[in-house]
Amino acid sequence: MSARVLLVGLGGTIATAAADGMPSLTAQQLVSAVPGLDATGIELDVRDLRNLPGASLGFDDLAELVRLIRAASVTGVVVTQGTDTIEETAYLLDLLHDGAQPVVVTGAMRNASLAGADGPANILAAVRVAASPQARDLGCLVVMADEIHAAARVRKTHATSLGAFTSANGGPLGYVSEGTVRIVQRPVRREAGRGLPEGGTAPRVGLIVATLGDDGSSLPVLAEGLDGLVVAGFGVGHVPATWVEHLAAVARRIPVVLASRTGAGFVATATYGFAGSERDLISNGLLAAGGLDAYKARLLLLILLWHGVGRAEITEAFGRT
Ligand code: ASP
Repeated sequence: MSARVLLVGLGGTIATAAADGMPSLTAQQLVSAVPGLDATGIELDVRDLRNLPGASLGFDDLAELVRLIRAASVTGVVVTQGTDTIEETAYLLDLLHDGAQPVVVTGAMRNASLAGADGPANILAAVRVAASPQARDLGCLVVMADEIHAAARVRKTHATSLGAFTSANGGPLGYVSEGTVRIVQRPVRREAGRGLPEGGTAPRVGLIVATLGDDGSSLPVLAEGLDGLVVAGFGVGHVPATWVEHLAAVARRIPVVLASRTGAGFVATATYGFAGSERDLISNGLLAAGGLDAYKARLLLLILLWHGVGRAEITEAFGRT
């Protein structure tokens, strides 16, 4: 039996062709522009869900997508969307998707009207990965420029380059080479399969970035009304000494997770001891984000809170990252 892939369009540069710079192409138009797709023999179900810029996608859009994926009886799923938010939407899908079939997110750095538009090649590679038995049980993947990235690690690290997507801690999981899917490494664990939270609205989880000379006096106001907070600290997880009392007060009320603003490596837990160091912050109730970057740490905290998970389990979940 041939593989069957559901392709869902959400918009983005990949769906943009006209001079107005707005996403307007249908998913079927995207698919029709891919040379060699028919020859793969992979059957496609094509759906339009949204036609939005990546920046305007929200939790409701993603929840609808997850329901669509759950209802589909297919080998795998491809999602086309704006690249601006792929690193977040893909990780959210990874946390929510509880099936074995791969969910592959892709997009384009150059719109369809430009010389060297990368959308068609990215769709072809993404469909091949979604149809591949090798990609089963890997959760959500991001396929761009013939590289296969784990949703938990991938980041957009360049504003315009065709090679904008990189996975700092460990590199891609694999590649598409001459049309063949080659998985070269599998993640040792995946924080996933929690499913879509039943009812309720998404908790409000904020993200604050440590910056030079900021005295932290705005922190109490910024944290007001939040259900959780992520701090993107300097280096291995540091903030100005003046931030500590404010963050300690916030951490007594809501979970506060300490990540690194560097975008790679791991938050320390036992190296530095000065005021504002990782040890100081952890002793004041902050939780270390491990190898998750600040954007992904925010989404993990949000989903855990949405599921009503308590502090002990939140600490355990971040301890596994
Ligand atoms: N602005 C675009 C977006 O919708 C960028 C892209 O798709 O590459 O995210």
